[in-house]
Amino acid sequence: MSRERVIAADKAHLWRPYTAMRRYLAEGEPLVVARAEGARLWDDRGRSYLDANSSWWVAALGHGHPRLLRALREQSETLAHVTLAGIAHEPAALLAEELCRVAPPGLARVFYSDDGSTAIEAALKMALHYWQLRGQARRRRFVALDGAFHGETLGCTAIGGVELFRRPFAGAVVECLHAPAPESDYAAAFAALGEILAQDGDAIAAVIVEPLLQGAAGMRSYPAAYLTELARLCRERDVLWIADEVFSGYGRTGTMWACEQAGVAPDLLCTAKGFTGGMLPMAATLASERVFAPFAEGEAIFFHGHSFCGNPLGAAVAREVLAIFRDEAVLERARPKARRIAEAFARFASIDGVARARSLGMVGAVDLAAEASYAGTTGWRVYDEALKRGAYLRPLGDTVYIAPPLTIADADLEELLAIVEACLRVTGCR
Ligand SMILES: *Cc1c(COP(=O)(O)O)cnc(C)c1O
Repeated sequence: MSRERVIAADKAHLWRPYTAMRRYLAEGEPLVVARAEGARLWDDRGRSYLDANSSWWVAALGHGHPRLLRALREQSETLAHVTLAGIAHEPAALLAEELCRVAPPGLARVFYSDDGSTAIEAALKMALHYWQLRGQARRRRFVALDGAFHGETLGCTAIGGVELFRRPFAGAVVECLHAPAPESDYAAAFAALGEILAQDGDAIAAVIVEPLLQGAAGMRSYPAAYLTELARLCRERDVLWIADEVFSGYGRTGTMWACEQAGVAPDLLCTAKGFTGGMLPMAATLASERVFAPFAEGEAIFFHGHSFCGNPLGAAVAREVLAIFRDEAVLERARPKARRIAEAFARFASIDGVARARSLGMVGAVDLAAEASYAGTTGWRVYDEALKRGAYLRPLGDTVYIAPPLTIADADLEELLAIVEACLRVTGCR
């Protein structure tokens, strides 16, 4: 099919995510991607582009991993889908067992859903329901961090801390207090969280955080000590805490889970994105025995369950992802790649126009404005430049970052870092 035909249908009928549609319809030139393999996308003309953000952070094992393709094919030939209501099947059951084995200690129950947002939504509802069953129904509020991003559904939007994303839906449904993000001054941020819990503690259902790395806020990282103290404080105040590992999990920050680096385990943990190697939309919410206990008593029912809950295709692929992490030592082999990213981004800090640079695990980021914001436009200059040089480097406003597949080939990573550097130098001098 011709490129023009694809673009015409796209522009006539598609409503694109996070896109200023008027501008797109008038002058947007989308990449028309025909196939993808490893860390590369190929357009319809045979040009390749390094996928610097793993296709919105999902393709942790790169595109088209042969073992994932095989798992998907084989599962599709026997059982593509069946409900999980009253029915058990091997992929969902064994995946739950395998997931609990690699999860932070104490997480022993797995609830399946469709994507990161629904995994968070399930966690929020579990927390609310938990307190109701425990006779503390007034615990209806959540605490999240400024700059937090937890997904797109209404509940997720309400707890989000990126003002710009929340504003159009303000006031809807969920009550959430926001605490300062710990990035710049973690002691002060921790004190502020302490005050919220001291004042409102018995009205709070749960504190939710993206462990170590606030992705959508602009790849902001914070010290593990904050998380360690947060876990201690929540225990002290008898408040649940939820780890949103949708982005930070599956090795993105250097360990299987970011929580590990703080030596803590949450009451609820949400995983998606890398969970299926980015191949299928499927997610999981893991609960501790404490949270699960009241649901295992009496007649309690968690009134929640998606049509595709435990989908066999997704589950088979997710099992294979865990097997690949084991067999191919994905975390160990990503370590020298993470070091290369750290070295390169440390160097980028001195380029004209770069206000700040940082890295954590398989993420490197620079801010091109002192007060970097999602609404900023400086990153888009770098994006245009990178496309010309063969990299898809979609920014978060003023923040330019890479979050490539953990398995990116060393040569591809070097090429990507060289492209980022060249683009920063070219656009910075303008
Ligand atoms: C992407 C993301 C989500 C939402 O996941 P979707 O699959 O897009 O619904 C939630 N939390 C974090 C931290 C994310 O990065």
